[in-house]
Amino acid sequence: MSDLSGKIALVTGSVQGIGLAIAKSFADAGASIALHGLADETQIAAAKSELEQTGAGEVRFFDADLRDVAAIDAMMDEIEAWGGADIVVNNAGIQKTASLADVEPALWDAILSVNLSAAFHVMRRAMPGMADKGFGRVINIASVHGLVASIDKAPYVSAKFGLVGLSKVAALEYANKGSKKSGGVTVNCICPGWTETVLIEPQVAARAELFGGDRDAGVADLLKEKQPSQRTSDPSEIGALALWLCSPIAHNVTGTSIPVDGGWTSQ
Ligand code: NAD
Repeated sequence: MSDLSGKIALVTGSVQGIGLAIAKSFADAGASIALHGLADETQIAAAKSELEQTGAGEVRFFDADLRDVAAIDAMMDEIEAWGGADIVVNNAGIQKTASLADVEPALWDAILSVNLSAAFHVMRRAMPGMADKGFGRVINIASVHGLVASIDKAPYVSAKFGLVGLSKVAALEYANKGSKKSGGVTVNCICPGWTETVLIEPQVAARAELFGGDRDAGVADLLKEKQPSQRTSDPSEIGALALWLCSPIAHNVTGTSIPVDGGWTSQ
């Protein structure tokens, strides 16, 4: 469907979870991967070798802390010298639940900087090069919480709604860059519901406690509350959608926020 050979894809937070699954689907299509995240040597080496074995052109690792604008700029300088990112997936994210009154200012700042401001700084640096090439894809991993709210998630919901808004502005500013032949420059959000990664484990564990520590019962209870399909998503399903968005046929799909949420946001 998509041949990404010769393309460079930066996927933030790609050493694990949804980011790694997206990087794998791009590697399978022959892209070179700017692997990124905060991890130890073992995890980095494992992710790098998994991507190389899947078929990536080249894999280079970046460890920019996304709370640090200077570190983001240094990473983008290096990627520019490599050839510039043809595809950017702003995937890295953190989340912690607390009621609004209990959110410490430092937690608010951290969630906003990783989940929203970092995406802005990466796009600010990557998108002019995409316009010059006439091809570019920005995929921002928002959340159902970019479309609807839940209690105890004030910073996360604020950041994700912000990411949806940022993506629409960028989509409009770059809509007429490139051509049908070159593929154009598009910006979209993917909005997952419950997806099986370590990010949701604290919430799963808290719910499992109500059922004597039974994880499956905890997950079922979380799904019953919000996700009508009663099924979690696998990260590879998000990867498959991201790959489709990179294909030439998706040149006119821009400014959208696509839920992968089993009906959560249809309610
Ligand atoms: P995860 O915790 O497995 O991965 C998060 C990644 O972000 C890691 O690779 C980590 O290294 C990176 N990261 C965190 N803080 C960073 C920092 N300061 N600097 C650089 N990198 C940093 O989480 P995941 O579930 O794979 O989530 C990926 C994205 O999907 C997030 O944006 C999350 O909000 C979103 N999402 C996840 C779910 C879900 O159910 N798992 C649902 C909706 C949205």
